[in-house]
Amino acid sequence: MLKIFNTLTREKEVFKPIHAGKIGMYVCGVTVYDYCHLGHARTYTSADVIVRYLQYLGYDVNYVRNITDIDDKIIKRANENNESVTNVTNRFIQAMHEDFKALNLIEPNQEPRATDYISRMIALVEKIIANGHAYVGKSGDVYFDVRSFSPYGCLSHHDIEQLQSGARVEVVEAKRDPLDFVLWKLTKPDEPCWESPWGKGRPGWHLECSAMSMELLGEQFDIHGGGRDLIFPHHENEIAQSQAATKKPFVTIWIHGGFLQIDKEKMSKSLGNFVTIRDVLLLHDAEVIRYLLLASHYRSALIYTDDVLKQTRQSLVRLYTALRFLPAAPAEENSPFEEKFTEAMDDDFNTPIALSHLFELAHEIQRVRENDLEKAASLGALLKKLGGVLGVIQSDPEAFLQSGASVDLAKIERLIAARNAARKEKNWAEADRIRQELTRMAIVIEDGPAGTTWKRLK
Ligand code: AMP
Ligand code: ZN
Repeated sequence: MLKIFNTLTREKEVFKPIHAGKIGMYVCGVTVYDYCHLGHARTYTSADVIVRYLQYLGYDVNYVRNITDIDDKIIKRANENNESVTNVTNRFIQAMHEDFKALNLIEPNQEPRATDYISRMIALVEKIIANGHAYVGKSGDVYFDVRSFSPYGCLSHHDIEQLQSGARVEVVEAKRDPLDFVLWKLTKPDEPCWESPWGKGRPGWHLECSAMSMELLGEQFDIHGGGRDLIFPHHENEIAQSQAATKKPFVTIWIHGGFLQIDKEKMSKSLGNFVTIRDVLLLHDAEVIRYLLLASHYRSALIYTDDVLKQTRQSLVRLYTALRFLPAAPAEENSPFEEKFTEAMDDDFNTPIALSHLFELAHEIQRVRENDLEKAASLGALLKKLGGVLGVIQSDPEAFLQSGASVDLAKIERLIAARNAARKEKNWAEADRIRQELTRMAIVIEDGPAGTTWKRLK
């Protein structure tokens, strides 16, 4: 029985889809004006594992992840670079796709871009105005009337009076109330703009996700997610817009992930303290990064250091080592290991506990392999199947164990050949010396029926 922590109720709830067997899931995507960083990798790897697990449970998941391709920051970047807005967005969308592919993120079923949904957004604003929840302000911009929508604050658990006294809410004279937020803003010179009943302009940021999610998943759908910075105001405002238009509940479960931090701060583009995915990939295997992200629960904070990535490789080495030299076999069925794995994942997608069960399984494979290779093989197939739910250990074990930035392949092969020659001549001292030389290079060799194999330790 799958339970998911719902930000709306602040409880782990038994998950029940609106339509049996089918799940609509929307995750807020990237604002594309720079390369994606490890914070993005964290949020989208969590979403990826949630989708994979729902699929493993047999659900047909419609996974939508949007692209914000119009926004103040994008316009600013285009101006700084003397580049068109579409050039900036196309460039960074392509880079994002490359990075996400490297991280083995499954592609969303649909990836709508905000600028393709402007007419849908305008129709939504018209509906919200017609229902009495929005107005044209003194400036000509259209605002959502927060006080007209009584559930406002339901997601972030703020009450309106508390918000009102909060100093962070900007005061703009054009609004009736400082809490009101913009749905449509009139154009400034040299900005991209679209025709609308209220004049040429562009949508407020929150509007796009209400419009695109409801268009692609229906007015009511199951899961909506993102990083926890989106709870307020972005998702709070999405609820207000959507429910003000449809007069129906919008989303059943809201999922929010914790931040990836660096130096105790949230890694972010605007703070400038970010490490891009592509920079990390120059030094580390993508699978190691992915593993690191799954080794803590998606709702907790994750502190990033380079050292932590080095240690992470060891965990994958252990899992891949268990998968080595096993013949092909069907995965063991009704296994207590699988039962424990699903129990952990059913508990709000507890990936660290799920991983610990994969280690127990790896240990069991090593224990039985000598006396019962067939059993080891079917447990190995199970390990690979469950690893697949987390998107790890799908490569050839030898390829992973031998991979790494600093390996001098030719030298390793030369040393192994020299050692084999020394052994043939029963020159054990020389064979040992070569083994030690390889160990100093962090290469461990093993002599087995298939000859001498090797793996990299770090
Ligand atoms: P942005 O590119 O800022 O629009 O963010 C896209 C998504 O990445 C949002 O769901 C954010 O919550 C998430 N995100 C941004 N920075 C981090 C971070 N340091 N840790 C985790 N998620 C993040
Ligand atoms: Zn969004």
